[in-house]
Parts: sequence; C-alpha cells; structure tokens
Amino acid sequence: MSEHERQLLLEAFDSNWIAPLGPQVDAFEQEFAAHIGVRHAVALASGTAALHLSLILLGVRPGDEVLTSTLTFSATANAVTYVGALPAFVDVTRESWNMDPQLLAEELEACARRGKLPAAVIAVDLYGQCADYEPILETCRGFEVPLIEDAAEALGATYQGRAAGTFGATGTFSFNGNKIITTSGGGMLVTDRSDWAQKARFLATQARDPAPHYEHSQIGYNYRMSNLLAAIGRGQLRVLDARVDQRRANYRFYRERLGDLPGLSFMPEHPAGRPTCWLTCVTIEPGEFGATREDVRLALERENIESRPVWKPMHLQPVFAGCRIRGGDVARDIFESGLCLPSGSNLTERQRMRVVEIVRHVAGRPAGGGDARRE
Ligand SMILES: *Cc1c(COP(=O)(O)O)cnc(C)c1O
Repeated sequence: MSEHERQLLLEAFDSNWIAPLGPQVDAFEQEFAAHIGVRHAVALASGTAALHLSLILLGVRPGDEVLTSTLTFSATANAVTYVGALPAFVDVTRESWNMDPQLLAEELEACARRGKLPAAVIAVDLYGQCADYEPILETCRGFEVPLIEDAAEALGATYQGRAAGTFGATGTFSFNGNKIITTSGGGMLVTDRSDWAQKARFLATQARDPAPHYEHSQIGYNYRMSNLLAAIGRGQLRVLDARVDQRRANYRFYRERLGDLPGLSFMPEHPAGRPTCWLTCVTIEPGEFGATREDVRLALERENIESRPVWKPMHLQPVFAGCRIRGGDVARDIFESGLCLPSGSNLTERQRMRVVEIVRHVAGRPAGGGDARRE
C-alpha cells in the first residue's frame, strides 16, 4: 500500500457507504476505464467473476466449447465450466509463453471442419506479458469467434502501444492479494459496449428487474465490489505505474546477476509488447545448469524464501483430463523447468541479492569470482 489507500479507505468508512456499491465504486470504475483507455469498467468481487460474466455476455451456453491457453491459472478454465461450457486448450509459444497463434488457427480450422466452432476464445496475458494479439485477433475475426482477454496478470502492460485488457470484446482484471495492485480481493470487467457494462452490473447485483419490490426474470449473482475495497483500489491505481517500474526493476536486477548462468533462461519478452514483469520467471535446464528447478526452489525454501513452479498447464490437471489439447509439449516443458522468483514490489536490494546468491550457489557459480556479468 502507498499513502493514498488509507486516506481513501477512511473517507469511505466515514461516509458510511459500507455496501457493494457507492461513490467509491463509481469513481474507481471511471478512473480505471480512463487509465487503460476503454469506455466502461465494472468493478466486481473477483477476476473470476469478471470471466464468468464475460462468458454470459458473449452468450456462451451449456454444451458450447471455449478455447483457452493451457498455461494459465485454473480460474480461466473454471469460469468456462460455470456456464456449462467445456474448455479446450491450446499450447503456448516458447517466445511468449502465451497462446500460440498458429495452433489457434489450426484448432479453429479443425473445429470448423467438424462443424462446431467454439463460442469464444479466452487469451491469457501470462505473468505480465500480453499475448500476440495481431495474429490472434485476425484468426478470431476470420472465424467470427469472439475474444475475451484475461488480463488478470497484466494490468499496466502494453502491446503495440495499447493497454492490456483492451484487445477482446471484454477484458478482465484481478485485484487479488498477489496481483500487481490489490484491493485484497476484487476484479474488473472492461468493455467498450455500454449495454454490456449495464448488463454486467445488473447480473452482478442479483439481476433485479426495475420494480419497487424484488422482481427477477433472470438468474443473478452477488458479484459487486464493496465500496470500501473500491476506495483501496483508487489509491492503488495511483501507484500502478510505480509498481510496474518496481516489478521491471526486479526483472532487470535478476537478469543482470543471473543472466550468465548456463542453462538458466528468463521468460522471453515479446518484441511487440512492454510487459510489467509481474513475476520474474526463469527456466532451468538441469543438464547445463547442474541442478534442477526443484533443487533451486528447495534451496530457497531452506532460507525461508518462497518461490513457485510456473503454472501447471490445464491439460495436465486431473480436473480437465478429458478436455482436448492442441500441442501441449511447450507448456509442459515450461512447467517442468520453470520457476517464478520472488517478485514483490517492495523487495529490497538486499533481499533480491540473497535470492541471487542462493541461485548462484546451487549452480556452483557463486558471485564474486568475477564471473557475474554486469550488463
Ligand atoms: C488471478 C487470476 C485470475 C483470477 O482472479 P481472482 O481475482 O483471483 O478471481 C484469473 N486468471 C488469471 C490468469 C489469474 O492469474
């Protein structure tokens, strides 16, 4: 938290608007929409809720299929099942760790030949980096399949100068505690269509028809964001750019001090985008590095430093075992060799240096021997 959130939260508290609506929610939506350059933003209880409502807005129905990247957090695929649809997965590229546009085209081609196109595609912007939207959008337009952008991990990133979250028919964000800015829990759905924004707000507040009594002609949800949390969100939005700078500085720091280690590679930066480096991720090839990803993770853990394997792909998850996958080996390789390094916005240089020292120690190439190349 910066100094703004406490002030805004106390103002919201003192105003007595303690509800899942209120002036802070309205203001947060307006400021958020303006920040990323989209017409409408709808503040919700979570990023998962934003995905769920997006699928409803796009008319995804029971029995439909929805294509998504296999290398993602489970929330992306879970939301598909909430509307009774079935997820099908597409592999990622080694260059971006995001959905492979070529495989997406092949998959849609195969779907078209079978006579059943998916009802939607959900592209995911992994670890702060936008998917490759130019070819993805061209393919989706060609097959007239709408796109949802799951930008939960990429608030503040750009692709060809445009903000993450603005490439699909809807975009979704998360303010969960681990994301680049947080309201402790929360989400945002963005869209340029005012009828969809209105419908999302309607569905998120139990689908109350206009009447003095409680009248319902549709199933609704309790998905609105609390006015108190929106106040925190407004404060966080003011420091988003600073947070992006801090996360990118983590990445640069690690890269400069670990980039010379054989067998250790950083998640590639796609040339068309500017990632936030929400998490700094590396892959470790044991043959060259001299130890496995797990050796590094456990060495850090012994020093009470948490790191995590990269997301386990959805097509390898027991719960999605029956779902179709196109490709899948790239995501599996990244999972097996990938590690997310400590990446908090408030890490000190000393803390990051401890991580560097432990990783170098595991590699058998401790720093200080003059071999730590400085870029
Ligand atoms: C965090 C995350 C979500 C879910 O957001 P919540 O606010 O936790 O519901 C969805 N997709 C991805 C890729 C995420 O990382």
